[in-house]
Amino acid sequence: MLRLIFAILVMASAARADLTITNVSLLDGTGGLAIPGMTIVVKGDRITAVGPAAEVRVPRGAKRIDGAGKYLMPGLMDMHIHLIGAGQWRGLENPPGVAIDREAAISYLHSFLYSGVTSVYDAGNVPELILDLRAKERAGSIVSPRIFATGHALSYPGSWMSSTFHGVGVPDWPETTKLLDEQIAIEPDLQKLVMERFGLGPNPLGPSLPEDLMAQIVAYLKERSVRTTIHVATESLARSAFAAGIDTYAHPISTARMSEAYLKMLVDKKLPVATTLSVFDEIIRLSDSPDYLDDPLFSDVLSKEEIAARKAQGAARYVSMGWMSWFKALSPYLKENVKRLHVAGGVLVLATDRSEGPMIHRELELLVEIGIPPADIIRIGTLNGAIYLGREADMGTVAPGKMADLLLLNADPSVDVRNARNIYTVIKGGRVIDRHRLDVAVNR
Ligand SMILES: [Zn+2]
Repeated sequence: MLRLIFAILVMASAARADLTITNVSLLDGTGGLAIPGMTIVVKGDRITAVGPAAEVRVPRGAKRIDGAGKYLMPGLMDMHIHLIGAGQWRGLENPPGVAIDREAAISYLHSFLYSGVTSVYDAGNVPELILDLRAKERAGSIVSPRIFATGHALSYPGSWMSSTFHGVGVPDWPETTKLLDEQIAIEPDLQKLVMERFGLGPNPLGPSLPEDLMAQIVAYLKERSVRTTIHVATESLARSAFAAGIDTYAHPISTARMSEAYLKMLVDKKLPVATTLSVFDEIIRLSDSPDYLDDPLFSDVLSKEEIAARKAQGAARYVSMGWMSWFKALSPYLKENVKRLHVAGGVLVLATDRSEGPMIHRELELLVEIGIPPADIIRIGTLNGAIYLGREADMGTVAPGKMADLLLLNADPSVDVRNARNIYTVIKGGRVIDRHRLDVAVNR
């Protein structure tokens, strides 16, 4: 009930008027350093003008935000999440009729807005949950970042994600097409595929989506204009997905240092690759130093009980699965591959493969740790996310015609990405989000 009241309060506070931000330092999402003294005009849900004060007419009656001393950038985009609200942290296998907790899901969505994230891509979930929330978000009936989703990820029977809450195993060709048609009918923003053989670390070799079937699926979806992303951890499988015409990668490869030849393929074709350093980082830290969960951003959005449960159950789960040492072993390859992709001019896309807003700030820090300049990271977290979705005409930069998804900060994130935590206000679709009224722990 309390959560319902929060939701109504936020809605009421989000009435939309034309909006002007004056005299602000602008990081427009394309990379580079802040440009001071800029004026931005928003009408409805779009940006209509961006420029120096002398060149931009401020409309009468517009709500005005004085941007002096502040920094404006596009809202952050987390392009790999699995929204909590069904199945997660309750064991990996789907119990029959998995319970859906919409209130929890909405609270986690609010954790993204609270953290400055205005768009998320859910890379596999219970379709009834995520598609319902996507519809409600698009209808404006819930307060939420923009939701892009695959519904179920498509894997192969017995393989990773084939029987978890977030995926389904596909039958062999041609029966596959029936499932693909059902999938197309739900309009995935980006259809996720999974090719995962394991046979590494603690994980036994298992079945995987056969390469010819994967290629048939990608071709079938491409013919019907459905964009695709794929989970692969090894270069050989990643190359076969490349040859099949995959549009994006849901992770970098992590089982080895990628070859120069493969790196060049990715860079030449500008294939977007989601960074997902946080998932490795969190799994490792849950056993070694779970105190990251006491960071103010986490304790703002998660209750004490949720944090305690995460520390206890999360660590136990990953230790029992043998993932802790496995992820420790792979993490250096993952980081090196991400760094090399950036240096070579690849299209990296900010993504956590986690389920709550604060983790995006850890992903930003990890990118700095591997040596990527903060100004480049801002582009990775904004414009490149839009490119990942194929939505760059509409989103990802502060420019006329784009959706007004904006993050106004008290300090310059292109100097220190930790300044992206120092949030003055979050604007989604031209609406100022009242962070004090979001359904997150600090406001309850
Ligand atoms: Zn994932």
